[in-house]
Amino acid sequence: MKYVSTRGKAPVHSFSDILLAGLAEDGGLYMPESWPRFSADEWRAMRALPYPELAAKIIAPFTAGSIDHDTLLGFCKDAYSQFDHAAIVPLTQIEDGLYVQELFHGPTLAFKDMALQLLGRLFDHVLTERDERVTIVGATSGDTGSAAIEACRGRDRLTVVILHPEGRTSDVQRRQMTTVLDSNITNLALKGTFDDCQDMVKAMFADAPFRQDMRLSAVNSINWARIAAQIPYYVYSALALGAPDREVSFAVPTGNFGNVLAAWVAKQMGLPIRHLCVGSNRNDILTRFLDSNDMSARQVVPSLSPSMDIQVSSNFERLLFEFLGRDAEACAALMTGFRSTGKMDVPAKVWESIHTLFSGLALDDEETEAQIRSVHQNSQYLADPHTVIGITAGRKFREPGVPMVAMATAHPAKFPDAMRAATGITPALPPALADLFDREERFRVVDNELGNVEDAVRSAVLSNRS
Ligand SMILES: *Cc1c(COP(=O)(O)O)cnc(C)c1O
Repeated sequence: MKYVSTRGKAPVHSFSDILLAGLAEDGGLYMPESWPRFSADEWRAMRALPYPELAAKIIAPFTAGSIDHDTLLGFCKDAYSQFDHAAIVPLTQIEDGLYVQELFHGPTLAFKDMALQLLGRLFDHVLTERDERVTIVGATSGDTGSAAIEACRGRDRLTVVILHPEGRTSDVQRRQMTTVLDSNITNLALKGTFDDCQDMVKAMFADAPFRQDMRLSAVNSINWARIAAQIPYYVYSALALGAPDREVSFAVPTGNFGNVLAAWVAKQMGLPIRHLCVGSNRNDILTRFLDSNDMSARQVVPSLSPSMDIQVSSNFERLLFEFLGRDAEACAALMTGFRSTGKMDVPAKVWESIHTLFSGLALDDEETEAQIRSVHQNSQYLADPHTVIGITAGRKFREPGVPMVAMATAHPAKFPDAMRAATGITPALPPALADLFDREERFRVVDNELGNVEDAVRSAVLSNRS
C-alpha cells in the first residue's frame, strides 16, 4: 500500500515511512492510495476470529509491502494480551437496539490504548530494521500522554518526553504518566496551560536544527497507523450484530475525529454501516457543522470530558479530502483558509453528502451529568462523561431494526468526581491500577520557555542513549 497527502504536494510513501513521519511534508495528512475491500463472504468468515486475529486481517492491507502478515499478527496478539477483558472490546446491551462497546480495557483505561499499544510495537520494529532511534515529544491534557508512555516504555530506540500543564491534569491522569519510571520516559510539568504545552511542542518541531538533531517524531492522532488500528473494533461489533447481512450504526464521542473516521473507513472497506453519529461537549464545532454547515472555530472551553475539548478536529481533513473527490488542491485551499480565518466554507453539495451519513449532538456539562445519572438509573450502566455523550447521540439517532453501537472511550474510574456527583458512586480503579496512589512519582518542573524545554529534551535523549 502506498500513501498520498491530502494536500497533494508530498511524495508518495510506504507504510513504514508514514508511520515514522506522521504529518506529510506539505502539511497534509497521509491517506492510503485506495481502499481495500472485503466481500460479504470474507466478512462472514471473519465472525469466527478472536480479536487479535481479526485486527491483523483488517490492518494487513494497510501495512502491505512494509510489514508481513505474521509479524503483524504477532504484534496484535502481544498488544492486546495486556488488556484486562477476555473479549478485548466487549459489547453490552443497555436498551432496545442500543449497545455499548467498551474500548477502555487497556493499561491506561482509555480507547487510545487500542491504537497506541500496537503503534509502540510497530515503531520499535521499523526502527530496529533501520537501526534508527527517534524522540517522541507530545503535549497532553490527559489520556494521550499516558497511553503513549505505556506503549513505549522500555523500548530504548524511543525516547519519550511528554509535557503536561503543572497542576492542571487530574491526579489519576498525572500519576498514570509520572509513576512510569523506565529510563526512556521523561515527564515534564510545564508552568503553564495545556495550550502552552502544545505551543512548546510546535515550537520544537519548528526549530529545524533541533528537530533533526533529536530526530523528533510524534504519535498524535494524525498518524495514519492510529486510524488503521481503530478499524477492527467496528468490524468486531458489526459482525457480532449480524453484518454483513444487517446494517449497523455507530455513535462516537469525538475530539480530533480520529475514532469516528476509522468507522467511516470500515464502511469504505465494505462493512454495511448505515449512520455515524458524533457526540461533542460545549466545544461543538462538529455538531454545528453537521447541523447547518457552520464550521467556525471558537475559544476552547474546559468541560467534564477533557479529551474532547478541541475546536479544530485535525482528522476532519481526511474526510473532507474524500468528499471533495480527492481533489487535493481544493482540500489544501479550504484548510489554509480555515487556518487563517477560523472559518471554512464547505461547498453545499459536499456538506449535503456528509450530512446524509453523519449526524451530531452536543451536550453541556449539566446535560452530561444528567445523562450519566439517567443511564445508570435505567440500565445500571456507569458511563464516563465522554462515553455518555456518545450514548445520548446514539439514542437520539437510532432507527428501528438497525442496531446502534455507542463507543465507550474511557473507564468511569478515570473521572471519579464527575461520577460521584452524578450517581453518588465512586467507581474503583481496576486491580492493575489499584496501588496507583502508592507508587513513586517522577517528573521535572520546567519554565514555559523554549530553551529550558529543549535542554530537558536533550538531556533525556543523552541519558537514554548512554
Ligand atoms: C481521545 C478521546 C476521545 C476523542 O477521540 P478522537 O479520536 O480524538 O475523536 C474521546 N474520548 C476519550 C476518553 C478520549 O481519550
